[in-house]
Order: sequence, then C-alpha cells, then structure tokens
Amino acid sequence: MEFFRVYGRVIGLLRAERGLAIGLALANIVVAALQFYEPVLFGKVVDLLGSARDKSTEELWQEATQLLILWAVVGLGGIAANIVVSLQADRMAHRRRLGAMASFFEHVLVLPFAFHHGQHSGRLLKIMLTGVDHLFGIWLSFFRENLATFVALFVMLPLSLFMNWRLGLLLIVLIIFFAISNAWVVSRTDRLQHEVEDYHSQLASRAGDALGNIHLIQSFVRLRAETGEMHRIIRETLAAQFPVLNWWALLSVMTRAASTITVILIFVLGTWLYTKGEATVGEIVSFMGFATMLISRMDQASGFVSRIFFQMPALADFFRVLDSQSTVPDKPNGIDIGRARGNVSFEDINFSYDGKRPALVHFSLDVSAGTTVAFVGPTGAGKSTALSLLHRMWDAQSGVIRIDGVDHRDIKLESLRRNIGVVFQDSTMFYRSIADNMRIGKPNATQAELEAAAKLAEAHDFIMRQPNGYETMVGERGMTLSGGERQRLAIARALLKDPPILILDEATSALDSVTEARIQKALKVLMQGRTTFVIAHRLSTIREANLVVVFEHGRVVEKGGYKELIEHGGAFSRLVATQQAGIEAA
Ligand code: ADP
Repeated sequence: MEFFRVYGRVIGLLRAERGLAIGLALANIVVAALQFYEPVLFGKVVDLLGSARDKSTEELWQEATQLLILWAVVGLGGIAANIVVSLQADRMAHRRRLGAMASFFEHVLVLPFAFHHGQHSGRLLKIMLTGVDHLFGIWLSFFRENLATFVALFVMLPLSLFMNWRLGLLLIVLIIFFAISNAWVVSRTDRLQHEVEDYHSQLASRAGDALGNIHLIQSFVRLRAETGEMHRIIRETLAAQFPVLNWWALLSVMTRAASTITVILIFVLGTWLYTKGEATVGEIVSFMGFATMLISRMDQASGFVSRIFFQMPALADFFRVLDSQSTVPDKPNGIDIGRARGNVSFEDINFSYDGKRPALVHFSLDVSAGTTVAFVGPTGAGKSTALSLLHRMWDAQSGVIRIDGVDHRDIKLESLRRNIGVVFQDSTMFYRSIADNMRIGKPNATQAELEAAAKLAEAHDFIMRQPNGYETMVGERGMTLSGGERQRLAIARALLKDPPILILDEATSALDSVTEARIQKALKVLMQGRTTFVIAHRLSTIREANLVVVFEHGRVVEKGGYKELIEHGGAFSRLVATQQAGIEAA
C-alpha cells in the first residue's frame, strides 16, 4: 500500500543518524509504556480505597505510600524522560530536514537540462520546500505520537484483554471501527487530494513565472490578467479542497461518536460485571482511563493518517524528483582528459527530442583544433541542438561525438564541461556581485585576473562606472545591466574559464553599432586559439570562419569556406543574399 511505502521511505531517511534514531525510538517506546501504566495504578488506588474499611490505618498507609511512590516515579519519571527524548528527537528532525534539503538541492543541480527543461523552477522550489516540511512533520510525529500509538495498539490493547476480556473486547471493537472508517475515507478522498495538489503546484509555477517576468507583466499591462488568472486557480483549488474537507469532517464526527459510545458502554458493562462480582471498581476506572487514552491516541493517529494523505502527492513529487535519473549518465570510471587539444568530430549523429520529429539527421562533421566553424540556417534547423549535444545537455540516440578521439560519453561530465565554454545569446547572471559572477569561470581568480579578463572583454570600463565597481550587485538574472554589458561580462567569464572549445550563440538582437563593434572585438580575443562553434547571424563572423556549415531541417545541406559556398550559388548564397538585402533595406 502506498501509505506504508511512503511512510517507510520517510522514516528510512533517518538512516543518516541510524544509531541515534533507533535509541530514541526505543526510549520513546519505554516512555509511552510508562504513560500507559498510569491508569492501572489509578485503578489500584481506587481498589485500595474501596477495601480501606477492611484494613488497619497503618496497613492502608503502607500500601498507599508504596502505590503513590510508584505513581510518582512512573508519572514524573515519564515526563522527565519525555522531555529529554523529545528535545533530542526535535533536534534530529531539524538536522535531517536541512540535510534532506541539501540532498535535494545537490541532486537537482546535477540533473540534466533535459529534466529542467520540463520543470518550472518555481515548481521545483515548491516541491523542495513543501517536501522537506512534510518530512519534518512526519519525523516529529513518529517520535512524539506514532510510537506511543504503536505501544497502545500492540501492548496495551492485548494486555487489557488479560485484565478483563469483555471490557478489552469493547476497546478492540472501537479500534477496528477507527481503522475501517479511516480506510474508507482515505479511499474516497485519495484522487481528490491529488487534484488539489496539482492546483497548488499550478499556483507555485504561475506565481514563480509571473515574479520572474515582472518586466513583461508591467510593460504589457498584464497585471489584471495575471492576478485574475491567479484568483481563478485559487477558486478552483478551494473548490477541489472543500469536498475532501467534508469527508474528513464526517470521519471526525463518526469517530467521536463511537468513542463516546464506547466509554458509556464500558461504564454500563462495567457496572453489570461489578454487580455480578466479575470486575472491581478499580478495573472499571482503569478501563475508563485506557479508553480515554486509547481514544486520544486513535484521534491523533487518524489525524496523522489524514495529514499524510493530504501530503502524499507532495511527498510523491518530492521523491519523484529525488528518483529521477540523469539522462546523460556520468560513467563511474569516466576519463579525466585534462586540457583537451580541441579536435571535435561528430559521427553520424541522429537525434530527436520527442522520439518522433527528428532534430538532427545523419549529422557528421570533423573539426580540427583551433578552427572556427559557423553554423548557419533558418530557425529550427538544428544548429543549437548539435551544439547542446556536444556539451551533453542531451545524448544522441545514435552516433558518436569525439573530443580528441575520445567518445565524449566516456569522459567525466565535469572534465568535458571544463573543456567547453558556452556564451549564450542571452547571458544569465546570478543575483550576486559582478566579481562573483565572473569568478564562476574561475573560482580562485585574483582581482588582477578579473580585471585583465574584463579589459580583454571590453567590460572593464562599464564595470568601473558602476557604483561599487566589481563589487556591484547585478539584479536578479543581471537585470540591472544592459544586454550588451551582460554579454561582455559573459565573455570575460569565458575568458577566465579559458576552455579549448567554445560555443557561441551569437546575438540576433539588434545592438547599437558601437556595442556591436565592442562585442565583436571581445569575441575575437576570446576565440583566439580555441576550437569555436558559432551559431552565426552576423555576416562578419561568417566571413571570418574557417568553415561554414548550412543546416536545413536537421540536415547539413552545404559546407565549405565562405567564398567557396558563395561561388557555388546554393542555399548559403541565397541566405547571404537575403541577409544583405535586409541590411540594405534597414
Ligand atoms: P536552431 O538552433 O537551428 O534554431 P534548434 O536546434 O533549436 O534549431 O531546433 C531544432 C528542432 O528541435 C526544432 O524543430 C525545434 O522546435 C526542436 N527543439 C529545440 N529544442 C527543443 C526542446 N527542448 N524540446 C523539444 N524540441 C526542441
């Protein structure tokens, strides 16, 4: 059953502190057993009082004192032990909560692009935060409540049968009623609760998406539409949540009624047994105590079960992310190739994102170290796909990519990616200082190295104009910088990384001619001595490339030198003619 599988897995996460967890669990069981002994003692006191007239005062006091001391030890000792154990358990739950968050975070960071592509970061964040909160809650309940419930069911209940089997049976009937009614309500609400959780995830992605695109929302006056949509999802969430709440309210009414009836029946049956001399007043009092304790345990247990069922979809999401395997597996004995020379060959690559529409078909290309290759062709022709395969954002369905003759899947991912630098069309930045953003390329770079790279990338001047120079914070995703500035920072970052192979996704956005010239100059410095793949839009880049590869519908339709292709008068010359016409028209 899914409930026990999820519960077992959550408790299993305490493995990291196995010794302490087992110790605490055992201590909690002892504490719970002590607690349940109290009603027995209470019953004994009542029986002692009942027989007081038949005993001498001295005898009575002696027995009473013994019972009271025992009671004090059991009661007060139990409370003290409980405090110590609970404190330790709470600390452990806090530690494991942060531990689980760290594991989730590390796992998600290494998951490939293919995974992140289908996930909204807001949703992932929600899955992580909600997931660890639920884990925390379950661990706390495990130590504080569940173990005591376990003792109640498997120790106290059988013992009550020994004390008085008829009264004990009443308690057992009550437990069976609890179990059946819980299972019934769970079966009714399971699917509904999954729907509710889907709505919550929608809310998180929607809010994350909106917050990440505030500019877009404000400039397109989408405020009303966005909030309206949010309210719509909220309304639907509540509409889905209410029926579930009704079922659980019904369960609560039923179990409370059953509890009250059981207590009354114990009283009635107890009185009848007493009149027949088959039960003492003390036993009846003990059973009343048992019944109330058991009922409060069952109340807690059913609250716990309902809570887990509310949380199950979120926990399933959490574990699904934790279980997702990388589609670009890092071989355990992967090779560290050190610094590559930069020879790259694509050998008969076939790739499709969805397994149906091909994005690359029989793609082969040999590039020797230090050359610049321009990929050209219409949008959607497969240029970016070819390059994302190179640094293993995805793996091709067939074919091999070799770096210096080594199949790139045999190379450690870290070693492969250290050898490849990527400058994206729209460079993203962390919400950190300019210096920190540059150090992503080389974590131990000195200030002098940062400045040297920034100068080569034509970025130093604008950095010095920022209020705090290199220590200036860039807004979220670099929003306080212009597109051209972000690109130059990204170039500086790549210079610091100093990879032998470079992937450039050239900007298509119209930059002013001064910025454009500066970026060109910076790029030229960056490309020197490296194998460079450019998704080229600018004629200047294409002209200077050693090799131009023309893509159409995932296939290479032409390749050769710039002049050679122009003279050939094929697809490429048409592309250039179109672009030139565009430039002249502009
Ligand atoms: P280009 O870089 O030449 O513009 P792409 O390599 O981006 O072309 O795209 C090639 C094909 O693959 C297109 O049909 C595109 O729609 C599809 N495609 C690109 N990225 C993805 C993706 N992440 N998931 C599914 N299909 C994609």
